[in-house]
Amino acid sequence: MKTIILATGNQNKAGEIREILSDLDVRVVTMREAGLDPEIVEDGDSFEANALIKVRAVRRALAEQAACGSAAPGGEDFGADCLVLADDSGLEVAALGGAPGIYSARFMGETTGYAVKMAEIIRRLKGKRGAERAADFRCAMALSLPDGSETVTIGRVDGVIAFEPAGRGGFGYDPILYVPELGMTTAQMTPAQKNAISHRGKALRMTEIFLRNYLREDR
Ligand code: IMP
Repeated sequence: MKTIILATGNQNKAGEIREILSDLDVRVVTMREAGLDPEIVEDGDSFEANALIKVRAVRRALAEQAACGSAAPGGEDFGADCLVLADDSGLEVAALGGAPGIYSARFMGETTGYAVKMAEIIRRLKGKRGAERAADFRCAMALSLPDGSETVTIGRVDGVIAFEPAGRGGFGYDPILYVPELGMTTAQMTPAQKNAISHRGKALRMTEIFLRNYLREDR
């Protein structure tokens, strides 16, 4: 069975990705579970660029691990035939010029809680109504195959910034992205509802087409 290494330490993202790929015949592990902890400098100017930076850093770390003969904590050897998958994503608020965008995790500081970040976004939209509150989540999903080829797919879910946070599901900015079609924030959705409409779900279902082709040809 092929292994996909996720170039993320974000357990929430990893959980969503695992769920969306659950009917594929692959094993999904995070980079930490594979014993990899590469330095990843996200200095790209787009979600796509940052997603590629992440998969390339993990691909390099895999090659280095193989070169020095070391193995993951459980003694397992994750070789160059693993696939690597990375998500770079964030919230874009039209009235804020697309901010926080690629800086979503770092907005107001990496360690600042999401209650504070969300309150600040709501504060900056004071007095704005309807379409003036337009926002979206975007996701770039990069896949690196063992033969060195790479693909990047993009997904997006549109909504508006809610007047106050609502819902306990999901993570990050989920409580403030209200999706009019479903009449709720992405934090009020069940995991299945969110995965069906989310930026990550859309990007990943496109990546899945490449994955399925690869897995078929590799047999
Ligand atoms: P990244 O790990 O650099 O890609 O940062 C992504 C950040 O964007 C996350 O830490 C969240 O703040 C935000 N984000 C991305 N996807 C979602 C989502 O599905 N719900 C809520 N916030 C998200």
